[in-house]
Amino acid sequence: MLFKETCQNTIQNDITVSGIGLFTGEKVKITIHPAKADHGIVFKRVDLLNKPILKADLNLVREANRRTLVGSGKNYVQTVEHILSAFAAYNIDNALIEIDGSEVPVFDGSSKIFADLIEEAKVQKLDQKAKVLSLKEPVYFSENYIHLIALPSNEYKISFTLHHPSSEFLKSQYFSYTVDKKTYKTEIAPSRTFSVYEEIKPLLDKNLIKGGSLKNAVVIKDNKVMNEGGVRYDNEMVRHKILDLMGDLSLIGTRFLAHIIAIRSGHLSNIKFAKKLLTYLQGGEI
Ligand SMILES: [Zn+2]
Repeated sequence: MLFKETCQNTIQNDITVSGIGLFTGEKVKITIHPAKADHGIVFKRVDLLNKPILKADLNLVREANRRTLVGSGKNYVQTVEHILSAFAAYNIDNALIEIDGSEVPVFDGSSKIFADLIEEAKVQKLDQKAKVLSLKEPVYFSENYIHLIALPSNEYKISFTLHHPSSEFLKSQYFSYTVDKKTYKTEIAPSRTFSVYEEIKPLLDKNLIKGGSLKNAVVIKDNKVMNEGGVRYDNEMVRHKILDLMGDLSLIGTRFLAHIIAIRSGHLSNIKFAKKLLTYLQGGEI
C-alpha cells in the first residue's frame, strides 16, 4: 500500500574518503557522487576491468555471514551495511559510490563517519517523488530463537532485543528507536561493531578478519571490554544491531513505514526477513 509521497533525495557534493576493510585489511578509497532520481544506491568497482556497476539490491545479496555482501563473481562489495544504514537514516535514495576495492572501509566500526560525511555533503532534494510503502498487516520471520516482525505503523521504528546467554557481559540488551536523522546521529551512528573474543578467535587464527583491531570493533574478552575508554553507551551493542538492521533492510530499495520488532537477529536473518517484507510490499504472496 502506498502510504504517502515525498521527494527523493541525493547528496549535493562529492565525498571522498579512505580506510581499511574489516575482513580484507585492504586500504580502499570511496567517492560518493550525487545521482539522479530512480538511480538507486549503486556501487562502481573502479579497480576492476570495465569498472562494472552493482546496485545495492536485496536480490543481489550473496553472503550475509558476519557482514552483508552484494554482487556476483568478481563484481561484489562486502560490508555494505554501515554506509547503507546512514543513507537510510538520511533518506538518501540515490547515490553512486565509486570504490577501488571489494570492501567498504570500516573506519571506527560505526556509521558515524558516514553520517558526518552526508551532513558535510548536504542532502539534496530531487523533484521526483519517493514511494513510501506501508503495511496493512504484520509480516514476520521466525526461525528457532530468532524473530523479526514488521507491524503496521505510521512511522519507521525499530525495537531490538539482543540476547547473548554465553556472555556474562552482554546478557540481554534492549533499545527502541524511531528512525530520524537527528536521533540516528546521536543515538545509533556512533555505536560500533562488536565481538566476543572467544567466538572470533578461530577466525582470527585463520586470518579471516585481516583488518580487525580495537580501533574498529568493541571486543569483549573474559567478560570485559578490552577497548581503552570502554563502551560509548551502556547498551552500545544493541544499538549497533539496530544500525546493521537498518542497513540490511534498506536493500529493499523502497522506503517503508513499519514498527520492526527484532529479537536476536543478525545479517542472515535480516536478509531473509527483508525478502519476505519486500514480497509483501510488492503485493505478492508471503
Ligand atoms: Zn555492523
